[in-house]
Amino acid sequence: MTENHNTVFVSRPGVNGEPKEENFRFEKCPYPADLQKEEVLIKTLYLSVDPALRCRMNESTGVDYMGPWQIGETIEGFGGVGSVIKSLNPEFAEGDLVCSQYGWPWKEYFVRKPDKSFQKVDRSLVGGKISYCLSVLSLTGLTSYLGITEEGHLQPLHTLVISGAAGACGSLAGQFGHLKGCERVIGICGSDEKCKYLTDELGFNGAINYKTQNIKDELCKHCPKGVDVYFDNVGGAISDQVIKQMNKDSHVILCGQISVYNKDVPYPPPIPEETKQCLQQNNITRERFLVLNYPEKFDESLKQIAEWLLSGKIKVKETIAEGLVNAGPAFVSMMRGGNIGKQLIRVASL
Ligand code: NDP
Repeated sequence: MTENHNTVFVSRPGVNGEPKEENFRFEKCPYPADLQKEEVLIKTLYLSVDPALRCRMNESTGVDYMGPWQIGETIEGFGGVGSVIKSLNPEFAEGDLVCSQYGWPWKEYFVRKPDKSFQKVDRSLVGGKISYCLSVLSLTGLTSYLGITEEGHLQPLHTLVISGAAGACGSLAGQFGHLKGCERVIGICGSDEKCKYLTDELGFNGAINYKTQNIKDELCKHCPKGVDVYFDNVGGAISDQVIKQMNKDSHVILCGQISVYNKDVPYPPPIPEETKQCLQQNNITRERFLVLNYPEKFDESLKQIAEWLLSGKIKVKETIAEGLVNAGPAFVSMMRGGNIGKQLIRVASL
């Protein structure tokens, strides 16, 4: 008899608390019973680990498109990829690889009646790397691409600054910025190792370690013509500093605000009066960006990203935790900056 395990949500960190490993528990659960009509049995291969899951740990998420996790229930993440073990659904056969970006239980085996968010994986598109369906060729890649193309107003000679630059979205956004023609790309991130990765491997023109360097001085040095576009993944004090260096009529891509996800503030969080004035005086746009608002652009954008990927124009890094037993720790680690590129969990091999 095959064993089955899941990750259960056991306690809330509190709206003002950091998530901890003890908020999650890895435990045995029943192997799924026989299938009903149109259902498939799925073996999970990889799971996506996303900052937005932090708000599901609170009693209220503060947004209407996702609900809070309930104590004692299996964690429901966003993205997952798996293989079909058995099928009573005419559209899926045993051995098919399937992926969803919109809801996947942190379970080794589970049964689903696939809705249209479940898609068969085109192996030629992912270049043989199944995990890419949850990183570069997923909502993550789309967030970076559509943030840049829809909100960036990038032009040649522009200087683009990215916070959270060595993470999943940031590391791709910088490369897309260069491919879209901007002259300088500067990343802000939390370690020297990450800075080195950005400049030596991804071709960023400069990188700033916000934990050890003076952001203002470094921005002045790296952005002699000011900042034209700011891809903001973190918010807070880092973003206040960047906004002060922005040019007239420039643009903030308000992608995420991870520096306040452990705080009890609305989204997007309030910004200091001085920053507000700076935005107004310099006519800087700063509208909330949500990738889910661009579904009609997903197909053509993924096609472009896949073309760049397969022709070697972009590099992808993933930080992979081994085994569902490490799912909770992987989430906690990502929230503390333990990842370079996309944080994933490898639950099983094909
Ligand atoms: P990342 O891979 O970037 O991982 C999170 C990173 O955030 C960590 O590695 C850490 O890197 C950094 N971080 C954590 N705490 C802080 C802090 N207090 N100050 C500064 N940096 C911090 O995650 P993603 O790429 O998946 O997500 C990046 C952002 O994009 C998030 O804000 C997320 O919510 C947002 N997002 C928005 C979407 C949209 O539609 N708008 C869709 C998907 C994601 P470091 O070592 O540099 O501190």
